Amino acid sequence: RAKRSGEPQMLYDPGMQSFREEHLSLLGDLQQAVERNELTLYYQPKVSLADGRADEAEALVRWIHPDKGFIPPGEFIPFAEQTGYIREVTRWVLAHAIAQAGQWVAADHPIKISVNLSTRDLLDPGLPDQVAALLAQHAMPAQYLCLEITESGLMEDPSRALDVLNRLRALGLSLAIDDYGTGYSSLAYIRRLPVTELKIDRAFVIELAHNDGDAQIVQSTIDLGHRLGLKVVAEGVEDQPTVAILARMGCDRIQGYVFGKPMPADAFVRWQQEHAAS
Ligand code: C2E
Ligand code: CA
Ligand code: CA
Ligand code: CA
Repeated sequence: RAKRSGEPQMLYDPGMQSFREEHLSLLGDLQQAVERNELTLYYQPKVSLADGRADEAEALVRWIHPDKGFIPPGEFIPFAEQTGYIREVTRWVLAHAIAQAGQWVAADHPIKISVNLSTRDLLDPGLPDQVAALLAQHAMPAQYLCLEITESGLMEDPSRALDVLNRLRALGLSLAIDDYGTGYSSLAYIRRLPVTELKIDRAFVIELAHNDGDAQIVQSTIDLGHRLGLKVVAEGVEDQPTVAILARMGCDRIQGYVFGKPMPADAFVRWQQEHAAS
């Protein structure tokens, strides 16, 4: 990039240098993390409001770094997206989530698992074949897999993303729009995508009990979503009054601390047994 004349030429920026070094070392660490299985998946229940069943869960990645400890996804997923390394992370997450879901199917205890994709994944024409191969390898019926995508993931190259989505959907899995309401796309646009589920972002759910505007938005999203044949899930629900409101509004599922935080696979199974008993 050409510099504007008169602008002081920066030959060495110590701040930028250390920023770069830190990122290079983080990228190296992340590559190692994938190779050495320092990543792990936590599962958070998506509870059905119709029958109380918790037979669905979202897989959320965690990084247990040998020196730095627990690193939440918000601290390395955006970085992995910038560097393009996200494809490796996504492949790791898909392989492990599908293997786990396959185990639960084999144990006669099927859980439908949602996996997050990021923007770049939707531009990868090889993704549908990779997913198909993983499903076959783990004898996992596609009906127990859901892939969550965000609206921003569609904007970069809509026709290419749509082709990838159509081929994923043709495998028989579900597709969810994540963080719905935080982007710019309308339901009129989403209607043209092969999606099956809408996840209303936590931003609209937090004050649901006290904010009429939010309540109207959520109610009309649920109604319109249903008219378009979509399942509607509310994210980030933390209290019972909000559960009651969402149930009255006809929301299909709830995901949030009110029912359970993301937890390791074995803890999820224990939680599920307790939840079913209560
Ligand atoms: P997301 O997909 O919107 O996931 C939901 C986030 O909300 C999770 O944060 C979850 O722990 C949190 N959450 C769930 N219920 C509640 C609640 O009641 N209250 C509050 N305050 N938070 C709640 P987490 O696990 O830290 O993940 C953050 C984001 O990182 C995810 O947002 C997703 O965008 C990304 N992410 C996580 N795992 C993956 C992955 O495997 N691949 C990709 N590409 N992105 C991932
Ligand atoms: Ca998600
Ligand atoms: Ca979300
Ligand atoms: Ca999010």
